[in-house]
Amino acid sequence: MPTVTGLSPEVLAKYQPVIGLEVHVQLLTRSKAFCGCKNEYGGEPNTHVCPVCLGLPGALPVLNKQAVEFAVLAAKAIGCEIREISIFSRKNYFYPDSPKGYQISQFDKPIAEHGALIIPDAEGNDKRIGITRLHMEEDAGKSLHDGFADSATRTYIDLNRCGTPLIEIVSEPDLRTPDEAFEYLTKLKEILLYTGVSDCNMEEGSLRCDANVSVMLKSDFTERGAAAYGTKAEVKNVNSFRYIRAALEYEIERQIGVIEDGGRVVQESRLWNNAEGRTFSMRSKEQAHDYRYFPEPDLPPLVVGAEWQKQILAAMPELPEARRARLIADYGLSAQDAATLTAEQAFADRFELAAKAAKSPKRVAAILLSEITMRLRAAGIEFEQSPVTLDGIVAAADLAEANAISSKQLKQLLDTCFAEGRDFLYIYDRDKPQQISDTSAIEAMIDEVIAANPAQVAQFKGGKRTVAAFFVGQVMRVSKGQANPALLNELVVKKLDA
Ligand code: ADP
Ligand code: MG
Ligand code: ZN
Repeated sequence: MPTVTGLSPEVLAKYQPVIGLEVHVQLLTRSKAFCGCKNEYGGEPNTHVCPVCLGLPGALPVLNKQAVEFAVLAAKAIGCEIREISIFSRKNYFYPDSPKGYQISQFDKPIAEHGALIIPDAEGNDKRIGITRLHMEEDAGKSLHDGFADSATRTYIDLNRCGTPLIEIVSEPDLRTPDEAFEYLTKLKEILLYTGVSDCNMEEGSLRCDANVSVMLKSDFTERGAAAYGTKAEVKNVNSFRYIRAALEYEIERQIGVIEDGGRVVQESRLWNNAEGRTFSMRSKEQAHDYRYFPEPDLPPLVVGAEWQKQILAAMPELPEARRARLIADYGLSAQDAATLTAEQAFADRFELAAKAAKSPKRVAAILLSEITMRLRAAGIEFEQSPVTLDGIVAAADLAEANAISSKQLKQLLDTCFAEGRDFLYIYDRDKPQQISDTSAIEAMIDEVIAANPAQVAQFKGGKRTVAAFFVGQVMRVSKGQANPALLNELVVKKLDA
């Protein structure tokens, strides 16, 4: 990896990076966290607002039940314990897009704590990343710095986002490399998407990450927890996992450079500039007491008792890891195929529907993962727009499994489906691909190929039986893909052994 700061790999290797992530996730509730306003991305600026989310004097917040349920579901999905009585607190700070002058958040008694995610480390081994807490809070509005004729001199405010329910998920400082941070975020997003509590759309800001990072001489480092690590800087609101990785790579080297120059890293918030590939200082970080947290007097303690928890957890779907294990066990898939199929819940659902209807789930996986995915990608469309439906995939898989079509014919049929925008069975019935199942006709073609390839025949006779596949391929070509594959396989071996 080229260094971004010109430090030598030897110098970089002397230091141990420590990373902890704070992830904010917008919840997909119908209304906002503490009022009845629509919780929806976009809209005419300042139209989804009311006295509560505008912070007008005298307006009182009422907690959204669905937001609590989503928070509990997400918390349980990442292994957290639910606190039966949690407390909302005011986090006081002024920001132009936050008209109340404080944010309703949770402080010392968050709704959930002590979770963990398992990620693969650099060697592919499981590594446990602790999750300190998951707490509920509300989002702020947006300051619009560009896009207006007078943007050079003015900032506009859109308060539609004010009061959108958030969960904040805080990791322990257990991550050691930018790659591990990337893996953690990927896992976290995958799980949250499965629970359905958020769309996790990073472009629209539904999932946002602040990355905390410090470095320390390896000679001084032991795994002792945050208090014993170096001074951290925080990179705010980076809007893609890849940029977060790049920002961390840069920030680690910047901090090492500061220390190597005899300086000290200062605790601060920094911004990532992707165009320049650097982070910039934004503001020195407030200490926790600067927020003057105190319990929110307008909201009672939140009680999530055992009975309510049970009701909420009834909606817990099968999570990605469990689903992967089940797909391997139930359908005999490889770990790699199971991982690809379960990366998105809808994709896994689709596979299972087809797999249940078809004769061979493995054949369905193969067609879905290669033939269909490849053609969708080439056409630049999603499965929802695919001309070949799930029924089409089942039909194709069954025909291929029964050797009624060769793999070449399957590819040709699918090409035609995508070219004409028609489903598989329509094209299959119309084009009725010819299949040669006449033994003597196939034998004649095999003889022809055997005569033309004496070297390969010798190899086969010499004991290299895998060469049979070469002859099958050649005859398939001669037959323009029309030879019955099962019959062909059988006859080739018979002829070669004769
Ligand atoms: P703050 O009060 O400054 O927000 P927290 O203790 O709440 O700090 O931690 C915020 C995040 O920073 C957590 O994800 C935590 O794991 C991480 N973190 C804490 N100390 C360090 C450190 N020395 N280096 C890197 N990350 C850290
Ligand atoms: Mg914090
Ligand atoms: Zn409102």
